[in-house]
Amino acid sequence: MNHEVLYKTPKTLLNKGTGFLNGYSHTLNPYTGCTFACSYCYVRQMPVSLFRKQEWGSWVDVKLESSDILLKELQRAKSKGPVTIFMSSSTDPYQPIEAKEEVTRALLETMVSEPPDFLLVQTRSPLVRRDIDLLQQLGEHVRVSMTVETDRDDIRKHFTPSAPPIQARLKTLELLRDAGIPAQAAIAPVLPSTEDFPHLLRPLVHRVCIDDYFMGDGSGGKRTKRLPVQALYEELGEEQWYNPASYKVVYDRFSKVFPKEQLFVSQKGFEP
Ligand code: SF4
Repeated sequence: MNHEVLYKTPKTLLNKGTGFLNGYSHTLNPYTGCTFACSYCYVRQMPVSLFRKQEWGSWVDVKLESSDILLKELQRAKSKGPVTIFMSSSTDPYQPIEAKEEVTRALLETMVSEPPDFLLVQTRSPLVRRDIDLLQQLGEHVRVSMTVETDRDDIRKHFTPSAPPIQARLKTLELLRDAGIPAQAAIAPVLPSTEDFPHLLRPLVHRVCIDDYFMGDGSGGKRTKRLPVQALYEELGEEQWYNPASYKVVYDRFSKVFPKEQLFVSQKGFEP
């Protein structure tokens, strides 16, 4: 699929952490738009997407001069108090175009030279492995949160056909573990999965965050309701999973395999 790519110099990069992310001083998005184009993406219902008349996932804006802008903003923010950054709240910092543009990599280099107190890198992309060298330099000040909504790749394909395969994400968690980089698996949003799922993640992470549309889309599930998500469940005969109680099924399965202190639900799992 061809995507429209525009290059823009942003006025600012660091935004205030609000709502679901109010535990962070700032959010940071290297791109505007996201070509992973997940069916359930709550950003589809946010102004950034609604004001743009094109379909979410069909366009991406690359932010130019990002490292210079970030360096200045970081220095200013750090002089005022602790800086905790969530990257990213409305794009995936390792979506395919990052392989070529390296905006995220440049931002990480800036953060290595001017470290924030904490950085959470939220992605579903194996490309994050390219930056293991920089993540290592951030030491305990960083955590990579890898979205793994299910262990079933047929389900992944049905809901997010343009997103990376589950197996590649598990392999990436293995590489992050071996490189000593703090990481978690984010089962977010919960999609239909099997009883093997906790056993697959057990050797890979010491932290699992479970979230769903009803807690995690910032509107009690209303934003998701406006998307044709329910139909995707119905097509598979899996509509029992489109339910505020289904995260508990996953939580219970995981609590048989993981100690409780390694399991987090919704917002708690994404806090610094
Ligand atoms: S990767 Fe994240 S930001 Fe991108 S489309 Fe999927 S849910 Fe939305």
